[in-house]
Amino acid sequence: MKNIMFIAPPAAGKGTQAELIVEKYHIPHISTGDILREISKEDSELGNYVQETLASGKLVKDEITFQLIEDRLARDDCKNGYIIDGFPRNIEQALEYDKILKKLGYDIGHVILINIDEKTLEKRITGRRVCEDCKSIFNINEESSAPKIDSVCDNCGGKLYQRNDDNIESFQTRYQMYKEKTEPIIEHYKSINALNEVDGNDSIENVFKKVESIIRK
Ligand code: AMP
Repeated sequence: MKNIMFIAPPAAGKGTQAELIVEKYHIPHISTGDILREISKEDSELGNYVQETLASGKLVKDEITFQLIEDRLARDDCKNGYIIDGFPRNIEQALEYDKILKKLGYDIGHVILINIDEKTLEKRITGRRVCEDCKSIFNINEESSAPKIDSVCDNCGGKLYQRNDDNIESFQTRYQMYKEKTEPIIEHYKSINALNEVDGNDSIENVFKKVESIIRK
């Protein structure tokens, strides 16, 4: 299977779509946000730096993400395709990613941009809940993706929590970061004919149908 990259503003549903792809196509999901959230739990200088940066909604330093992405992509489970979510997030990262792909002998694959309204994102951000154990994503503001039992994961019974950057204040910074830093990479992928666009305002199922029509090409 070809590699898949998601580009989208915060809470647009890239993690949810990635979960659906993993379930059906069994390729690894590499989310820099998930990896950084694990690092932020470490009691170290790096852990503290990452924790503070995540809570502020700003981007962590490029050199940290470069190393962790290269190490992760070099692992054997990525050789038959993977989903990359949350990286690259600026032009420097996009150029570094090109180099990493070349070094590892991988293709860019499908780049999928999820377009969505800012108002929808604000509503989603405050309702998002994530499973501490299996990382499944729910939304208490949307009937179709609310957990069956409050604070309990439908998939593994784990405890659901609210990310500490899922509040309106952090969202404003994260959205601004997306507009300023991440959106410019769209042109980069357009110029190499790798870009595909989907409308993220639709239901999870309908977005997934469109995503599948792209990844099966
Ligand atoms: P996400 O889970 O993708 O929403 O990412 C959560 C947070 O992790 C972001 O707001 C950033 O602080 C940080 N982060 C994730 N990916 C990157 C990246 N590629 N470069 C820099 N910071 C990142």
